Amino acid sequence: MLAEMKGINEECGVFGVWGHEKGAELTYYGLHAMQHRGQEGAGVVVSDGDNLKTHKGLGLVNDVFKRADFSKLSGATAVGHVRYSTQGDRAFENVQPLVFRSQTEGMALAHNGNIMNAEKMRGELEGQGSILQTSSDTEVLAHLIKRRGMEISETSITEAINKIIGAYAFVILTEDKMYAALDPSGIRPLSIGRLGDAYVVASETCAFDQIGATFEREVLPGELVTISDEGVSSTRFAMRGRRKMCAMEYVYLSRPDSDVNEVNVHASRKRMGKELAKESPADADMVIGVPDSSISSAIGYAEASGLPYEMGIIKNRYVGRTFIQPSQELREQGVKLKLAPVRGIVAGKRIVMIDDSIVRGTTSRRIVQMLKQAGAVEVHVRIASPSIQHPCYYGIDMSTRDELIAANNSIEEIGEVIGADSVAYLSEAGLEEAIVRDKTIHQGICMACMTGHYPVKENGEQEAAYKGC
Ligand code: AMP
Repeated sequence: MLAEMKGINEECGVFGVWGHEKGAELTYYGLHAMQHRGQEGAGVVVSDGDNLKTHKGLGLVNDVFKRADFSKLSGATAVGHVRYSTQGDRAFENVQPLVFRSQTEGMALAHNGNIMNAEKMRGELEGQGSILQTSSDTEVLAHLIKRRGMEISETSITEAINKIIGAYAFVILTEDKMYAALDPSGIRPLSIGRLGDAYVVASETCAFDQIGATFEREVLPGELVTISDEGVSSTRFAMRGRRKMCAMEYVYLSRPDSDVNEVNVHASRKRMGKELAKESPADADMVIGVPDSSISSAIGYAEASGLPYEMGIIKNRYVGRTFIQPSQELREQGVKLKLAPVRGIVAGKRIVMIDDSIVRGTTSRRIVQMLKQAGAVEVHVRIASPSIQHPCYYGIDMSTRDELIAANNSIEEIGEVIGADSVAYLSEAGLEEAIVRDKTIHQGICMACMTGHYPVKENGEQEAAYKGC
């Protein structure tokens, strides 16, 4: 049984570049493309071969970096991070990459995911005399790597990684090497790209497109990739598990132009919408989507149902994500600030409103209310993912079970709470079908927040290892 916890969940985006004279600038642009993965803080660490130089701060990438900063960040290798954090840990010291220096070498670490046994490892490390400076679980890995005064190498990183359990994508930079590692189930995304002779790694492929790099391959589950002047080498620190890519990357988190595990996000969302239309049709005049993440699935629903797709809601693009507001009151206010109905379109109409997911129900309730106030006669809510009833321990901020509306209410009750004329969710099979089209390649998804089947347990137990090539 997994303990209910509301620890530090980190959606986050990581980026790294090796062998390009404009290391810091490229990282800045890469982070910019992944801004949607975290708006709390951003940072870049550059190596010029001898030293690590850092620039980071709280806020958006554009707030943290000014043109003049790049003159101090010369170097051909860089690692960067955008950070999403839950309440209570927005401290500057948690902004990544985290940098650690010893007398002989330095190391910068950028991490996306969640280390489930971080507290336990923290206790062990403290018991052995380590003093940890942040509340971030990323620091635990740094201490494990440097334990017993070992040099930073494939061996020390492999030993350290084998002590941690969870979902993680790491990029580690030393003065002369860059390492990228992915958890044995490959729950979080991490890809390798090329830009001329340079190598690039990123959480999302949209960062490659931003800088003109081309996609090379995915970092594999349980793989540690080392990039240096000698080229690229790869080792396995764990038996390759069957891939369990986070379904929420497709449903909500990633940008539509990204390919996650070689599946385009927009295309997968369209298929979710199509499956949803097949499973749960509605007698209505039009289909609308909640901007931005539900537009693709709304287009898919409209296409499959034959109903016209309309722009019934617009988004004020200058307001941040409402979910990150700490209190319920602020969250409700946030929805109002962010979204507005297009009265002339929805008035007098029967609407199918598509949203990608329901977490607490705040967004759906406000939007249904908004549409009805604007004159919609019926609002049929269709959710392009299965209901979220279980907390995520792998780095997606889902909140505790108490706050998840679907964990505590039947579908009829949810309809009443959000004021909809009808509600339906996509089935688990429908979501799987939409994402995992080609079952011959070893793709698989983690739907733990929907099914309660956790592919990685707190004790490190994992679903059967992949037996194929
Ligand atoms: P809620 O209002 O709590 O039901 O949140 C649902 C809305 O938040 C949906 O419209 C999603 O687009 C979005 N959402 C879903 N999952 C997350 C997440 N992990 N972080 C931030 N927003 C999310």
